[in-house]
Amino acid sequence: MARPFYKPAETLVKVIVVSGGVISGLGKGITTSSLGRLLKARGIAVTILKIDPYLNVDAGTMNPYQHGEVFVLDDGTEADLDLGNYERFLGQSLSGTHNLTTGKIYRAVIEKERRGDYLGNTVQIIPHVTGEIKRTIREVCQAAGADVILVEVGGTVGDIESMPFLEALRELSYELGEGHMAFVHTTLVPVVGPVGEAKTKPTQHSVRELRAIGIRPNLIIARGPAPLSSDIKTKISLFCDVPPEAVISVPDQSVIYEVPLVLEAQGVGTRLTRLLGLPDRPPDFAAWKEFLATYRRGTAAIEVAVVGKYTDLRDAYLSHSEAFHHCQGHLGVDIHLQWYDSEDIPRNPSLIARLERSDAVLVPGGFGARGVEGKVKAIGIARTKGIPFLGVCYGFQMAAVEYARDVLDLPRANSTEIDPETPDPVVCLLEEQKTVNDMGGTMRLGAQRVVLARESKVAALYGKTEIWERHRHRYEINPKYLERFEKVGLRVTGRAVDGRVEVLEAPDHPFFVGVQYHPEFLSRPESPHPLYLALVRAALARKEVVRPVGVPSALA
Ligand code: GLN
Repeated sequence: MARPFYKPAETLVKVIVVSGGVISGLGKGITTSSLGRLLKARGIAVTILKIDPYLNVDAGTMNPYQHGEVFVLDDGTEADLDLGNYERFLGQSLSGTHNLTTGKIYRAVIEKERRGDYLGNTVQIIPHVTGEIKRTIREVCQAAGADVILVEVGGTVGDIESMPFLEALRELSYELGEGHMAFVHTTLVPVVGPVGEAKTKPTQHSVRELRAIGIRPNLIIARGPAPLSSDIKTKISLFCDVPPEAVISVPDQSVIYEVPLVLEAQGVGTRLTRLLGLPDRPPDFAAWKEFLATYRRGTAAIEVAVVGKYTDLRDAYLSHSEAFHHCQGHLGVDIHLQWYDSEDIPRNPSLIARLERSDAVLVPGGFGARGVEGKVKAIGIARTKGIPFLGVCYGFQMAAVEYARDVLDLPRANSTEIDPETPDPVVCLLEEQKTVNDMGGTMRLGAQRVVLARESKVAALYGKTEIWERHRHRYEINPKYLERFEKVGLRVTGRAVDGRVEVLEAPDHPFFVGVQYHPEFLSRPESPHPLYLALVRAALARKEVVRPVGVPSALA
């Protein structure tokens, strides 16, 4: 007799599935994160798994213009940006197993087939691929020690790529039985026409599509520009076969951290605990509410210049924007991010003039030669005008290039990533990277230990001399130039255990810090990153000196 391909595990798991209908980009990631937060606020241990139905094994080789920023986890996984939302909303770090792609599933199935694990059977989507998906979901939940796992299915119901995943989830709900699984469907309720009529038809169609697969939603999250009227809720309830109280209206919010409270106010937390047979303790949102109250207070305003090359798509720098939101929620300062396409800077004097009036400058990470000169220019402005500056990864490397060119008087200094023939390679390849050709997962990735100099600004900001930060880079500062940098006042104040340069700072500047790692990945609403807080504080302090208090910047 043939052995079963998929043996249900003894331990039962509780699963909340979040699917999406009508269009992508509805904020499913924020919805999923917020649902997780509702349970966490009740003392329930949760974790989240993101399913990306594309064939890529991970997001590492993907262009930020297509999927937004690549989010790096502690273990070095280059993940979908939603993993960043999960970590921020839950206040928990996740590992690479929490981002499942079709590429990963097929790779696992094919490896098993090659090993002979399927004992000569024909390997098929059902049961082998679906079995692998179900096994992974259970394993991830158990490994995380969670009571509940939320599974967000990327894409839109009806996409060919997501079919095996939805089928696996349907099978899983059957296997787990009543009270173990809840299906949440996120849809769009557009408002159209001269009188602003809310339309339910797209929702009806997408729920019908879901039901054709054998999944009946327990909750419908209706996204749209405005709150739903009770008439529209009743209509969706009738057509989609869910109670009216299970039709939840989530209109656009000015800050995403509102969403858990919007859901809570409509009874979603209690509904989910009932569906899953979990205790419904009163939720604790005290700190969350305080964060939002401070966020809205906005007593002073600063403008931070963000200089990058993917500025048309804000999602490409999502974790940076969020890090500033976290500062706003702690300092009560309105932070306006002004985006600069670094390619435009060298040829546009009005951009340069505006940059010079910024309260702070952030140069984030990046790759390749395009737009690099604009970043160097922006760093030069920050350095010479005393504008607080934070350089992250590529921004840090470009700060070294700027210093070398302008202060060390090495006009052709560069990174060998941009100019392999430069006479002054102040940034060059890591020794072990020289032989690597593969593009996926080949960088220095993930959390690495950094030792900070005792007498340094960064050590004071972190309040310790040993930190762990996430990395994603190939190139590094060339140690040959360090002595000269130190002589002109650019200090190395952080190093990896093997000696690589991790932090540079200029002590004679109000705030000039460059870091090889990516602090933005570790900033959370409940614990903003010290470097972002310090940048904003330095900007505020400088503003008080430069302009009289109470005078709007346009008049000063
Ligand atoms: N391109 C640089 C490197 O590979 C910086 C990478 C980054 O900013 N993430 O080292």
